[in-house]
Amino acid sequence: MAEGKIMKALSGFYYVLSDGEIIQCRGRGVFRKQKITPLVGDYVIFQAESKTDGYIMEVCERKNELIRPPIANVDQAILVFSAVEPDFSTMLLDRFLVLIEAKDIRPIIVVNKMDLLNEKTKPIVQGYISDYRRIGYDVIETSIVTKAGLEQLLPYLEGKISVFAGQSGVGKSSLLNALRPDLQLKTNDISFHLGRGKHTTRHVELIEIGDGLVADTPGFSALEFQDIEEEQLPLCFPEFRQRSHECKFRGCTHMTEPKCAVKSALEAGDIPVYRYNHYRHFMEEIKERKTRY
Ligand code: GDP
Ligand code: ZN
Repeated sequence: MAEGKIMKALSGFYYVLSDGEIIQCRGRGVFRKQKITPLVGDYVIFQAESKTDGYIMEVCERKNELIRPPIANVDQAILVFSAVEPDFSTMLLDRFLVLIEAKDIRPIIVVNKMDLLNEKTKPIVQGYISDYRRIGYDVIETSIVTKAGLEQLLPYLEGKISVFAGQSGVGKSSLLNALRPDLQLKTNDISFHLGRGKHTTRHVELIEIGDGLVADTPGFSALEFQDIEEEQLPLCFPEFRQRSHECKFRGCTHMTEPKCAVKSALEAGDIPVYRYNHYRHFMEEIKERKTRY
């Protein structure tokens, strides 16, 4: 028996990378009884039948799993936003950040199309960038046109499974193409899935970029807080989480409680008003969802 990582799943076959070789495997063994479907990104134990073929016998415990794209053990999400075209949206960014924090995935923010900023828009976007850096997030400023920031992004991928995420049109496929020119992903497409025609079987694949693995399908297409509970939300805002031990009440929700450290920081200008407003907005959304079901 040997161990490997599933790189691709297609038509009932799993392509397992082990010792630098790809073994084409079918599923067999105990995990079927456990009702576990092997996912791309899974570590598996397999039984080799030949040099090229084998059977997956066991799926090792997962760190996390995404539904779209179906992938396990994601280390980080590269959140691609554009400085303009489409405009930088802190609301959308905060939404992504909450979903990612809740899954224990490390977010890395990329602000692309920096070349398109002008005198008027530049200070606004730079202001947002410093806000997110102050929270502790890594923010990389990139441009496909000037190639700025691309070399900075590459080392982040090293040794990790990454999923790119972000609105359509922000430059996800352009970035991947710039990082690995032989990919030739179609840009400006509704999907940046590698070579997927409209009618071909949907599959996910991990592709090598630099010394890392990247899902060839963008992640977090569903941006609703289905699985997030009210108590969890304050934990998904790092600058709230860090201050919460100074709140008077344990389990403070930073909404109406007195002597709240988050509210004090907000009043002192240490937390941007828009971040706090998004928090309240998300809290309402989660509460509303609860009353609906
Ligand atoms: P995706 O939908 O996120 O994969 O976005 P694409 O990679 O398809 O890019 C959408 C459009 O933005 C394309 O026309 C790209 O040429 C353009 N684009 C991408 N990155 C940049 C950039 O850094 N600067 C400029 N000016 N245009 C860019
Ligand atoms: Zn509080």
